[in-house]
Order: sequence, then C-alpha cells, then structure tokens
Amino acid sequence: MSVIADNLAHVRAHAGDAKVIAVSKMQTIEAIRSALIAGQRVFGENRVQEAKTKFSVLRSAFSDIELHLIGPLQTNKAEAAVELFDVIQTLDRPQLAQALASAIRKTGRHPLLYVEVNIGAEPQKSGVAPEALEEFLSYCRDVCALKISGVMCIPPQGKDPRPFFLHMRELAMQFRLHHLSMGMSADYETALSCGATEIRVGTGIFGERGPI
Ligand SMILES: *Cc1c(COP(=O)(O)O)cnc(C)c1O
Repeated sequence: MSVIADNLAHVRAHAGDAKVIAVSKMQTIEAIRSALIAGQRVFGENRVQEAKTKFSVLRSAFSDIELHLIGPLQTNKAEAAVELFDVIQTLDRPQLAQALASAIRKTGRHPLLYVEVNIGAEPQKSGVAPEALEEFLSYCRDVCALKISGVMCIPPQGKDPRPFFLHMRELAMQFRLHHLSMGMSADYETALSCGATEIRVGTGIFGERGPI
C-alpha cells in the first residue's frame, strides 16, 4: 500500500460517517492519482486555476470526482468556480453571493454552497461574523435566491478549537444547515467529536505540500 493509501485508511477509520475531503492544494497530480487509486473521490482545492489545471486531466479518467472549493473566491472567478466545483465552501460576502447567483443562472450548474463563518471573530480572517450569519443567510435566500446548504470554518490558530467547533454546531442546528465542514489535519478528531459532517485533511493524507 502507498503511504497516501495508508494515511487515507487511517483518517477514514476515524471519520466514521463523516465525509473525508482530501485537500490536494499544492499536491502533484501523481499524489492525487494515488489517492484516487485508493478509492478517494472527494477533493478540496483552494484556487480555481490550479484546480482546473489538475482536475480537468484527472476527471477524464475518474468521472465521479467531487470537488470542493475551500479557498477564498474572487467575484470575477465566480463563473469558473461554478463550472468546476461541486461544492463552494467559502461564500462570505454579498457581492460574491450576487456573482454566484448570476453564474448559476448563466451556466445552469448548481454547486452546493456553504457560508464561511469567522468563528473566532479574527479581524484578518475572511468569513461572516457569527452574529451576522442570520442576516447574511436571509440576504442569500431572499435577495439572491440562493440555497445555502452548510457552513465551514477555520478556528483560530493556537487555541483550543473545541468551543469554536461547538459554536459552529449550534449555528448549523439553529439555521438547519445540514453540512458542517470543520477540522483539518491537526484537529479533525476534535471536530468529529463536535459534530463535523465533513473534515478537510491535507498534509495528514498527502504529507507536506508543494511546490507543484
Ligand atoms: C489547506 C487547508 C486545509 C487542509 O489543511 P491541513 O492542515 O493540510 O490538513 C483545510 N481547510 C482549508 C480551508 C485549507 O486551506
């Protein structure tokens, strides 16, 4: 078994019913292919162009790949993102909601949309403040006619992530959002114990990242 297959088996064994998103940003096509051969089909990327370059090749061999955008999205790339991704996890502002709504109308494609929540209220971080979530969800639904399916977060570095994950679960329940994306290589077990329905694991599966 390859190291990647080994790592995947380990993460999957912990994940139970939760979905494992293999974060393949800055990883080579060969590494991603190893994961595909080990049966992995769900991948996360943080840049539209990088994902397009790598996955247009891989999708011709593996038609059932599910691709998640987990990095920040510029409005001028909304259409390319809607064309490429099955799930966009980083909706975080009204302008982007509008751009996605018009890209969806234009392309006829309907990726699942999650709102990124700045759960630690960190000034430098993207994401909607927890106390602004209700209003933003209404904006997406009522002004842009967008259906929001989930929420995602990255808790603050260097702090116990558990209270942040528990707060995320509360928000997901309050607004009846079924997809709760949280937990990375360092903290996915905590996230799972707090109700994550999907975890995003990069280095814990592929090892250290790029240059690609
Ligand atoms: C890079 C990244 C991950 C994966 O991080 P690892 O520590 O390598 O598991 C998960 N989520 C987001 C949003 C990321 O940017």
